[in-house]
Amino acid sequence: MSDERAKVVIIGAGFGGIEAAKALHRAPVEVTVIDRQNHHCFQPLLYQVATAALSPADVAWPIRHILRKQKNATVLMAEVHAIDTTKRRVQIDSVSIPYDYLVLATGATHSYFGHDEWAEVAPGLKRIEDATRVRRRILIAFERAELATDAAERQRLLTFAIVGGGATGVEMAGAISEVARQSLAMDFRRIDPTTARIVLIEAGPRIMPTFPQNLSDYIRHTLAKKGVEVVTSTRVMSCDAHGVELEHGRLDADTIIWAAGVVASPAARWLDAQHDRAGRVKVGPDLSVPTHPNVFVVGDTAAVTDQPGIPGTAPPAKQMGRYVGRLIGARMTGGPLPPPFRYRHMGDLATIGRQAAVVKLGRFELTGFLGWLFWSVVHIYFLIEARDRFIVAFTWLWGYVTFQRGARLITEVPLVERN
Ligand SMILES: Cc1cc2nc3c(=O)[nH]c(=O)nc-3n(C[C@H](O)[C@H](O)[C@H](O)COP(=O)(O)OP(=O)(O)OC[C@H]3O[C@@H](n4cnc5c(N)ncnc54)[C@H](O)[C@@H]3O)c2cc1C
Repeated sequence: MSDERAKVVIIGAGFGGIEAAKALHRAPVEVTVIDRQNHHCFQPLLYQVATAALSPADVAWPIRHILRKQKNATVLMAEVHAIDTTKRRVQIDSVSIPYDYLVLATGATHSYFGHDEWAEVAPGLKRIEDATRVRRRILIAFERAELATDAAERQRLLTFAIVGGGATGVEMAGAISEVARQSLAMDFRRIDPTTARIVLIEAGPRIMPTFPQNLSDYIRHTLAKKGVEVVTSTRVMSCDAHGVELEHGRLDADTIIWAAGVVASPAARWLDAQHDRAGRVKVGPDLSVPTHPNVFVVGDTAAVTDQPGIPGTAPPAKQMGRYVGRLIGARMTGGPLPPPFRYRHMGDLATIGRQAAVVKLGRFELTGFLGWLFWSVVHIYFLIEARDRFIVAFTWLWGYVTFQRGARLITEVPLVERN
């Protein structure tokens, strides 16, 4: 490969970064993709790993494997800590990587609203490790309840608090209810798993506020039928190892899952660039940083100044990544430059569990089994590798028919470990 080729460095191999790299497939550039993980994670299905329906390898694939056929792409596993925009170098560990174009696609993480100490007792879902940690906690809670002799302690162990009534909170609440009421229902002798309390706590007046009122009501009603208690207009004041302090009282719970807020990766700090309240870098219509025209930001880390309200979901991240890849490619080949980026909203989907999901595509709405079928097909379609599509489809079908959750192993942890 010639040294004269422009160097494009992409930080982050999530939805945005992978699309950017792929869009540069034919461009006369050297692409370097840097990620702190060796795998791309399909985050929309993490809750299925956390509730033992899928295994980690069903929802994550090695980045090297995804880009193996792209000869102009090199993958480096490393954590980025700083960027020198003057010298145009990315700092990883003890070395620095030069760039001509830089694409930042480092995503977002949980926000504990200034209380990072809650992370220890109330893990969120972002990485594979988070999902297996939450899975371990849920399964261990049932095991410890089986051992408990005190009734109040048993009830506390069988109480699951989920903080945040957005898509992840709703999915987790629905799935934990199914674990308790179906998958584990007959597996214990001293406890009745179906008596587990699952409480979904939302600070706002309704859950899933991005959906219209009728669909939000449907979700609440469906959760109630699954035995989930939905508490709205209630803020969490603090979390500890034994439960949650709410605005209006206390909830004793052994398992707390945080699904309440997100904050962008520290890309704005690395670039010393302007950012919004969620820490997202403010970018112009071509997704470049105004002070650094050769630096682009995509996905959850970007706030497109002239299009406020772009959701922090996979489709915009993919659209932005693809756009920037094409833009850089066009600059390299001297081809026509694409018009300013425009996000195309395809619709909203959320699942509440077996046979229940909501779909909103423009005016078209689906709920119930048809919604769930649509949700399943879309998610399986968007899984990257054909092999995984098949495995996930088969695993879901099997779980659907048998009510079983196959990935229920508790590994590498003593029974008393809390984290
Ligand atoms: C639990 C959960 C459920 C979700 N469900 C849905 C859903 O159903 N539908 C939907 O559309 N969206 C969903 N989302 C949101 C969607 O996953 C994100 O919007 C999307 O992943 C954003 O893509 P991205 O490329 O910006 O960042 P990400 O996909 O998060 O990728 C960021 C990458 O950057 C890497 N990285 C971060 N910092 C560094 C660093 N310092 N150095 C090196 N590498 C770094 C990370 O390892 C990661 O691979 C969900 C998210 C979560 C967490």
